[in-house]
Amino acid sequence: MQNTLLMIAEVLRRKTRTVMVGKVGVGSNEPIRIQSMLTSETTDLDGVIREIRALDQASCEMIRITIPNRKALDAIPEIRRRMSEDGIERPLIADIHFNPQLAVDSCEPFEKVRINPGNYADRKKFEIREYSELQYAEELERIEEVLMPLLKNLKSYQRSLRIGANHGSLSDRIMNRYGDTPEGMVQSALEFLRIFKKYNFHDTILSMKSSNPLVMKEAYRLLVLRMEEESMDYPLHLGVTEAGNASEGRIKSAVGIGGLLCQGLGDTIRVSLTEPAENEIPAAKAILRDVEALMNSVSGNISHASLSEKKEVPGESSAYLSTGNPFFSRANLRTENFDDVETIMLKPSGCRIGPRESFKLMAWAGKNSYPDPLKVFDARLEESTQEQILALEDHAIEAGLNEVNFEEFRSKILLLKSQNPLFSLQKFKQWVSPKLMPLMVGFELPVMDSVEDHLGLAAELGELITSGQLHALVCKEDDPESISACFAKILMQAARVRMFQADFISCPSCGRTFFDLQQTTNLIKQRTAHLTGIKIAVMGCVVNGPGEMADADYGYVGAGPGKIHLYHGQQCVERNISSQVAVERLIELIRSEGQWIDPAEASTA
Ligand code: SF4
Repeated sequence: MQNTLLMIAEVLRRKTRTVMVGKVGVGSNEPIRIQSMLTSETTDLDGVIREIRALDQASCEMIRITIPNRKALDAIPEIRRRMSEDGIERPLIADIHFNPQLAVDSCEPFEKVRINPGNYADRKKFEIREYSELQYAEELERIEEVLMPLLKNLKSYQRSLRIGANHGSLSDRIMNRYGDTPEGMVQSALEFLRIFKKYNFHDTILSMKSSNPLVMKEAYRLLVLRMEEESMDYPLHLGVTEAGNASEGRIKSAVGIGGLLCQGLGDTIRVSLTEPAENEIPAAKAILRDVEALMNSVSGNISHASLSEKKEVPGESSAYLSTGNPFFSRANLRTENFDDVETIMLKPSGCRIGPRESFKLMAWAGKNSYPDPLKVFDARLEESTQEQILALEDHAIEAGLNEVNFEEFRSKILLLKSQNPLFSLQKFKQWVSPKLMPLMVGFELPVMDSVEDHLGLAAELGELITSGQLHALVCKEDDPESISACFAKILMQAARVRMFQADFISCPSCGRTFFDLQQTTNLIKQRTAHLTGIKIAVMGCVVNGPGEMADADYGYVGAGPGKIHLYHGQQCVERNISSQVAVERLIELIRSEGQWIDPAEASTA
């Protein structure tokens, strides 16, 4: 029994090649690497060195720097000199948008170059256009030509590359053919990846980031599926963009990054917070700590080919697969014979998601199936419906569930009281006939001193909620303001199943930022957090901000020193207003759209 438990608890890490970033290896034979990005401009040498020292001390393994122009690139040799004076050897990564020549020239001073396939070879014109197959092929030839100088320099300086696609930042060509979807993100990266592969360059890492953890997770899973189809084994860099700050930013990142790690996907991670860069490292470590406990680092993976046909697998294996296999969608697991849990039909998911709207539908899919889905229950639930609840604790799982006679017990609610909910639920499903499965599965949260100590738990619970397996979170304390109740609310909002306050998307800031993003984000949060159900983006620059705020309802975007653009959806409605009045004007804009309520009214609602 013990062996079986151990086997099912393991997550198989997806097998990849190793890509060297300087002396740091990235891939499944290596530990999962933690990285971050500077917020200072490279021309602010003292600021840059201060940040690099803090990141180095926090054990950040790779440091990314935005290179928006030639001046920023020219500052790198001096930064290197100061780093070596301090004995700091961390690899540096250039972050390039819109300027292919800067990427080409970054190959010499940087260990790795990150490019965005949405804006490397294309200028966005928001054109609606149908491409014939021939026209599309011509476009790909043009991209190949634009990539040649970069390819040459990457090879001659022996540098690595990240092709980083971002939701909301795709080329017109991709948008017209695939839309702003996970499939579009994946195809955007694959167009570039195939060209590098064709010329025998393989030191490539890929990322599929979005501020929405559900979009990001689907995009990464789909990317892995598509890479398997083309026998590609490139490592993954995981991140949720513009996650925000404080507990919200950390939990959103845990749901996205941690959820994928729980499935064996991911080789390097960045927790992107609107806070000092060094704060990202403990958050990343906290997510990794719990997930790595589940992880069997290099034992191999399950090939796509083995799942391309419907096949029968024993029940035990299905539990194993569902935690370790990137191609497996739980929605596709169904039993052919409800009396016999040993025989389960399994087919690959294909992972297609379609237009953005379907995420909302997916998130609310359980609404009609359960009396009150995804509610934060208080302690009274347990008292009032005691006979309907089966509470399952770790010791019962370890004992093989022998203490409970399931045939006699037809409970409506399964309440997991476990330190490892992902594993416990898989184990429970393995033991219990599907016809006896409770209508609702809940998880009892531990009493918490801080949200930050439970990011691994957020990752597991987020995975269960977004995959439709968990329907309720239960707080032991009868206090809606307790830390565990706050954790539950933020987690459900991050998993897009309930909204308890305005949702904030804020970029981490970088050398392109034109204002104090941390202070402004906090101010906007203070003024608008009570507006349940709307999304507000606070973005540092007009270069990437409008694209990457994706599905925000309102946007506050830096347009130049002291200047702000305001957006309603994707439309810029006020240009170059003074930052002195911009927060008030944002509130006026929300009011004019009929979405403002006064805080006092909200608290009595
Ligand atoms: S939105 Fe602009 S300022 Fe913010 S991190 Fe991205 S590039 Fe930097």
